[in-house]
Amino acid sequence: MRKKILCFTLCLMVLCFSSHPKTYGAETNKNEDNQKLMSLYKKVETLTTIPWYVFAAIDQYERNVRHSRRDIPKAPGLIEIYIKPEVWTGPLNPNQKDTDPRTIGLFGGIGVDGNGDKKAEPTNDEDVLYTIANYLQSYGSDLDNIKIGLWEYYHRDKAVGLILGHMKLFQKYGRLDLEGHAFPIPRQYNFTYHNTWGDARGWGGRRIHEGTDIFANYGVPVRSTCFGVIEMKGWNRYGGWRVGIRDIDNTYHYFAHLNGFADGLKVGQVVEPGQLIGSVGSSGYGPPGTSGKFPPHLHYGLYKDNGRTEWSFDPYPHLKAWERAERNKK
Ligand SMILES: [Zn+2]
Repeated sequence: MRKKILCFTLCLMVLCFSSHPKTYGAETNKNEDNQKLMSLYKKVETLTTIPWYVFAAIDQYERNVRHSRRDIPKAPGLIEIYIKPEVWTGPLNPNQKDTDPRTIGLFGGIGVDGNGDKKAEPTNDEDVLYTIANYLQSYGSDLDNIKIGLWEYYHRDKAVGLILGHMKLFQKYGRLDLEGHAFPIPRQYNFTYHNTWGDARGWGGRRIHEGTDIFANYGVPVRSTCFGVIEMKGWNRYGGWRVGIRDIDNTYHYFAHLNGFADGLKVGQVVEPGQLIGSVGSSGYGPPGTSGKFPPHLHYGLYKDNGRTEWSFDPYPHLKAWERAERNKK
């Protein structure tokens, strides 16, 4: 099939392992958890001068990392921020299970008591949250200093960037539930797509197809599939005009071969499911502006970050589910 040799993305062979977002229990449990989490964040906001969405963003980043890695223990409570024992109790502390705030302080640990029981316990939600708040506050509570504090804590630009993106989303919507999705093409337009995950690609060396091609006419609207922040917008010789959106689960939604972008769309902007981001085209396979080397289609890819690396996973089942959900909504 001709379309099988068309379109692909930047990466080479990427090791693909379990990457599906975690599944939650009943929807009501999740709502309850979110309410409890929000009151924890708000409580620490009143104890410090750091806004709740900073804690929500750090917790969300760590939740995603924890759920995609096997080397971090399961969270004992609702807060999923993981602070290593040597960081909590102090690197030279002979007792790595120390919960006495005074000795922890002496050994340079960051663990503090947040719930007033005179113990600094890494298994207590309030203690963990207040420890992070206290750590950040030592740098200052305005955004610039929070950024510095985050960098000092993670020593990874990517982590800081992801957390800042989450902050924007939580601040804008004022809630924790930002899980909604939309199919990228509005349902009144004609489109076709098949599962082409992993197909070989000929142009530009040996690669596999990391995504799903949705064939539609030039100019058909392309919409955001998630709540997220525009992380990338621009040209690439493979993908042509492209947009990348980072969602609240640290998943990166990649849209390639666009004809053009929505007016005013810019990096750092918050978008939501169904929001116009561009239109279908056939850009790519050459220097900026190259177009028409293959039939128009949207290349849609999904990438996941686990705090260390990023890898792609198959968007096809997700696209199918979002398409079905929209048809059922009518
Ligand atoms: Zn493609």
